[in-house]
Amino acid sequence: MTLDAAAVAAFRATLRGDVLQGGDAAYDATRKVWNEMVDKRPALIARCKGAADVLQAVRFAKTHGLLVSVRGGGHNVAGSAVCDGGLMIDCAAMKSVHVDPVARVARAEPGVTWADFNHETQAFGLATTGGVVSHTGIAGLTLGGGIGWLAGKFGYSCDNLRAADVVTAAGERVRASGEENPDLLWALRGGGGNFGVVTSFEFDLHPQPPMVYGGLVAWPFEAARDVLKFYAEICRDAPADLAVSAAILYTPDGHHVAALLAAWFGDAAEAEARLAPIRRFAAPLADMIGPLPYTALNMLFDAGNPFGVHRYWKSGYFATLSDELIDRIVEHATDTTSPQSAILFFRVDGACTRKESSATAFSLREPVWDFDIIAQWTNPAEADRHVGWARRFWRAVEPFSRGVYVNHLDSDDPSARVRAAYGDNYARLAALKTKWDPTNFFRVNNNIVPG
Ligand SMILES: Cc1cc2nc3c(=O)[nH]c(=O)nc-3n(C[C@H](O)[C@H](O)[C@H](O)COP(=O)(O)OP(=O)(O)OC[C@H]3O[C@@H](n4cnc5c(N)ncnc54)[C@H](O)[C@@H]3O)c2cc1C
Repeated sequence: MTLDAAAVAAFRATLRGDVLQGGDAAYDATRKVWNEMVDKRPALIARCKGAADVLQAVRFAKTHGLLVSVRGGGHNVAGSAVCDGGLMIDCAAMKSVHVDPVARVARAEPGVTWADFNHETQAFGLATTGGVVSHTGIAGLTLGGGIGWLAGKFGYSCDNLRAADVVTAAGERVRASGEENPDLLWALRGGGGNFGVVTSFEFDLHPQPPMVYGGLVAWPFEAARDVLKFYAEICRDAPADLAVSAAILYTPDGHHVAALLAAWFGDAAEAEARLAPIRRFAAPLADMIGPLPYTALNMLFDAGNPFGVHRYWKSGYFATLSDELIDRIVEHATDTTSPQSAILFFRVDGACTRKESSATAFSLREPVWDFDIIAQWTNPAEADRHVGWARRFWRAVEPFSRGVYVNHLDSDDPSARVRAAYGDNYARLAALKTKWDPTNFFRVNNNIVPG
């Protein structure tokens, strides 16, 4: 779309931030997202500095009939933070976090990452459920659900979202809370970017001491089958204070390993005993369990997830890790096409499963494992090989899955999978979409279609 230069200049004058177009020095760096595969070219990028800028951007896009995408931390693997030919509303510079340690509430802007958030809240010995990679945005992660180290204790990130300020498709700013527009708050707790641009998130905070006990234990890949069976066993009766993830990955020095990543969030005096069974299970290649800062625990996965790498994901939930499923997983993990690729399991249980499915837009309230096939590579010419591996792998394990985490859908996942992610809540979400966004103005996302 060609935009009138005078209109763009007038738009620029309404913002505290700036407006970028192709050819501007910062344009290419700003349209880049975490997944290097994504190469979209918006007509305009509004680098917003506050809620007023977001309001102006939404109004400008409405007036000019522009497609809109919204960027928080830029981690959506399908690249939904950026769009071709439209207006990218870039909130990355909106970084403030205000903590009220007495009320135990944090108010954070949409450009905040979990590293920023944890830094501010840990100063007061507080935390909420966040993501396991520190450079992920609080915005997209929370709006799509939010699975993290503290989920077993405090529920999903979206369960801890107590209120939000939202710029709606009507170009107005509204508040969503238990008292004001509670239907909108319900929808924001899992419904993704479908209902407007959130300019302020209010989270419940919980006491979380700055030091925890945990880390990674790794065994040679040959032990993967036994490690995954052991993992399934320890998750079965694990208390909410124990969080354990599993992975099959390559270490930086080239060893193919099966690993458990564990942390204890209960009484510190019990920590060693609680993690001892994991450390004693067979002879590990590496045992890095010990005391570490909570902020560092939330960076354990950072090194394996840098910006600038090409990726493709397949994901789904498993209710059980049967021997047959584990056999298939190990078989396909054997054929990994890239040393940067990995598979991950995140356990969902405890507080996440103590609400009704209809309590929030995010509907998964049963104990499951979130399972992720993560293909990663650096040479763009190799895409077919690595994407092919992830697809073959997924085809082999899909029959064992039910449902999917909406935040882990990739660009070629069909819309039926978005519906599957919301289960019985989809119809209510579609009705709320009709109320809050009848023209599907916000559609560059895991889209809920008005209806
Ligand atoms: C390395 C990595 C680690 C991850 N770890 C976890 C994890 O531990 N737990 C977990 O649950 N998920 C995790 N995820 C998935 C993550 O939840 C999604 O990728 C999520 O979209 C990231 O949010 P973002 O703000 O960084 O992304 P963006 O790409 O900026 O945003 C994604 C979408 O969210 C919506 N959105 C963003 N900001 C706003 C806003 N202000 N208002 C309204 N809508 C908005 C838009 O639709 C946007 O397209 C991880 C992803 C990556 C890449």
